[in-house]
Amino acid sequence: MDNPYLLLTPGPLSTSPTVRDAMLRDWCTWDDDYNLGVVTPIREKLVALASAERPEDYTCVLMQGSGSFAVESMIGSVVPPGGRLLVLANGEYGNRLARIARMAGIDTTVHDSGELVPPDLGLLEQRLTDEPDLSHVVCVHNETTTGMLNPLAGIARIVKAQQRIFMVDSMSAFGGIPLDMAALEIDFLVSSANKCIQGVPGFGFVLAKRSELAACAGYARSHSLDLYDQWKVMEAGKGKWRFTSPTHTVRAFLQALKELDEEGGVAARHARYVENQRRLVAGMESLGYRCLLPKALHSPIITGFYEPEGAFAFKPFYDALKQRGFVIYPGKVTQIASFRIGTIGHVFPEDIDRLLDAIADCGSHSQGG
Ligand SMILES: *Cc1c(COP(=O)(O)O)cnc(C)c1O
Repeated sequence: MDNPYLLLTPGPLSTSPTVRDAMLRDWCTWDDDYNLGVVTPIREKLVALASAERPEDYTCVLMQGSGSFAVESMIGSVVPPGGRLLVLANGEYGNRLARIARMAGIDTTVHDSGELVPPDLGLLEQRLTDEPDLSHVVCVHNETTTGMLNPLAGIARIVKAQQRIFMVDSMSAFGGIPLDMAALEIDFLVSSANKCIQGVPGFGFVLAKRSELAACAGYARSHSLDLYDQWKVMEAGKGKWRFTSPTHTVRAFLQALKELDEEGGVAARHARYVENQRRLVAGMESLGYRCLLPKALHSPIITGFYEPEGAFAFKPFYDALKQRGFVIYPGKVTQIASFRIGTIGHVFPEDIDRLLDAIADCGSHSQGG
């Protein structure tokens, strides 16, 4: 079935017809056909994507729920009782990491650099030096609030030089932005089915350094979200989930991974997203829109734009674009009137050209021109 409009909203996003077709049969959650034929190859492939350098050092745990559930599973299962967590935040998703940790009863402190600025690496180094009780650090890779690509390699270098456990929310980047967990010495990384791998929503996954995950027995603050237990069951049962898994979604994800390979892997997908975003920004600027962030800070995943001055209203603009076949995202930055357009998913440079035509057409209406 065709979709009535393209989703330019990074998660959920537009998927290919073949990914959607892959959902058209039922699976038994504990049968080998599913565990060995679907879950196991997914776990192996994700580990291979996480590290070409030392895949044997890493393992993968799938977790039911949206991406935030997997984040909660990671943070709540990895920081030990008595541990102390430093959250680097520069947007809504960074703030969510802190909220999740605090609700789990974890002693948490936030280094907030403000929404339009990358984290201050000097300050990070200073805090880790001054506060030896900070045992864990977590940051967002691509801050989806603004589209800021945080300086992951720089952060990793400091955190690991200071020998802290390093966790990354790479929800909206993993699979779309090249990265090697072993090269950066990342201990835990979380992402979900419906972002750059281009699957449908329903589960997330945590990639973990085996030796670090093995040390997390009994830490979990939640039974359902116990990452260690889920791992143990998946390892022992060769792909078995503890509780009912979203079977159709998982099967669609296997197809999405196959299509990532067919596209040429993460490097090729990244190149497509970069071209999508380059066209978007060039076209929007020529229509008089301005980007929220300077180009140097930008990821190819999602782009924030200032609302135009004057009589612009987001809702009519949104509705007019939706009628023309495109769904965009409202802004999430506090204090600034903005909107966002995602450039990931089953979306191609020609789609962006069509979008720009639609914006040229209806932008003038919503601005009362
Ligand atoms: C999408 C996203 C999440 C998870 O959001 P859900 O709505 O729970 O799937 C977490 N962090 C980042 C950076 C994201 O982009």
